[in-house]
Amino acid sequence: MNTRNLTWEVNDILWGLTDENTDEEVVAKAFELVHKVRFMPTATVNNGQPENRVIDFNLLPDGNLYFMTSKGKPFYKQLCERPEIVLNTTVDMKYALKIRAWVKDVTDDRWVWDEFFKLNPGTVKMYRKNPGIMVLYKLEKGEGEMFHLYAEERIRRMRFAFGGMEKLPMTYKITDRCIGCGECQANCVEKAIHQGDDGKYYIRYMDCDDCGICYTKCPLAGTAMTSLLETK
Ligand code: SF4
Ligand code: SF4
Repeated sequence: MNTRNLTWEVNDILWGLTDENTDEEVVAKAFELVHKVRFMPTATVNNGQPENRVIDFNLLPDGNLYFMTSKGKPFYKQLCERPEIVLNTTVDMKYALKIRAWVKDVTDDRWVWDEFFKLNPGTVKMYRKNPGIMVLYKLEKGEGEMFHLYAEERIRRMRFAFGGMEKLPMTYKITDRCIGCGECQANCVEKAIHQGDDGKYYIRYMDCDDCGICYTKCPLAGTAMTSLLETK
């Protein structure tokens, strides 16, 4: 592996982030991107069915993301029943950004009100006849992913978590039972599988597409390489 070239590519592609960055640094970048995109399709569950609408997200000076809705909306009812959202968007027409988060009603927090409405004076005007119907939410804990598809014909991925949640694990993992045949590496289209100085193979998850080709080629699939799809 040419480390210098890879570093250059990564720096160019994921805003300088690499898998050596801390979760806090990656989350800060992800939240900054949400704030930049601002209006994002946001999914909830409604009576067991997925539902989606566009929500306006705001990054406040405390480094957290907030949004507002009205107590009169079905969205509010859904959040009361299950305060979990998934937001998903593209950034600069080449990145995918996804966050799954549990949200908390912070309507009683005066500081949040003041900061939120500094950024959204139009919302105050819109709801001036009944400001009490407005409700503010904070993304309290969650996990997500930034993903670049096919930069120089290879993907780049960065997963993160915040508020005490765990990052979503990748599906495929090479274990100590690996016999070192190299079939997985030879068949990985993303060149995500490397051999360490100790001769053992490992997956660099930042480059992995989670496609499962390696698993289908491993002669000891299920032991030398495991799949979360098989264990669920
Ligand atoms: S899941 Fe796909 S991209 Fe990831 S290591 Fe395996 S073959 Fe490569
Ligand atoms: S194909 Fe399976 S056994 Fe062969 S190197 Fe990869 S993980 Fe190890």
